[in-house]
Amino acid sequence: MTSVHSSNSSQSHGQGEKSRCQLEIGQNVYVMAQTWKQELLIHIRKFDSDKGKTFPTKRGIALTLKHWVELSMCTSQIDETIAALKERKEEKLFHHLGANMYVSVDKNIAGVDIRQWWWCVDTVKPSRKGIFLSLQQWSKLKDCFEMMSDFVPELKSIVPCAMQDDHQNQMGFLQCSFCNPNECHQW
Ligand SMILES: [Zn+2]
Repeated sequence: MTSVHSSNSSQSHGQGEKSRCQLEIGQNVYVMAQTWKQELLIHIRKFDSDKGKTFPTKRGIALTLKHWVELSMCTSQIDETIAALKERKEEKLFHHLGANMYVSVDKNIAGVDIRQWWWCVDTVKPSRKGIFLSLQQWSKLKDCFEMMSDFVPELKSIVPCAMQDDHQNQMGFLQCSFCNPNECHQW
């Protein structure tokens, strides 16, 4: 079970607002919901400690609420890929969460990578903004999907792109800067 610290016990880090929650998913990685420059973001972030003080590191990723919802919606796809890999099937997953953020699983690594990619010439390349989760951390992150709406009720009003009225035809998707970030301007 994922251990839960209430927002009362979580510390304020840096200049950001106090996190609403701090859910540990193992190996010093925490899931936090925090407002930064007026935007509420859900962080999956590695912490470090020094001289008895813990602090967040750059290793991690900040997801918008929309990204969080997109990620929570593809858990079964991710789990199916992991299950197939365990049976030594040739399988991989490279799933676009939106705005060049991808979740990926492939045969070389036993885990789930959530990462911001960037568009370079005609393809996407991985950036250093991201986090690789072990299978154990991934399974704890799935618990967080269920819990997070208690801390972030705003999640209930997020409509995934695929369910928006303007995405019911392909043009809506092609013109969307979230779904088609690198080529939407061409449509
Ligand atoms: Zn979209």
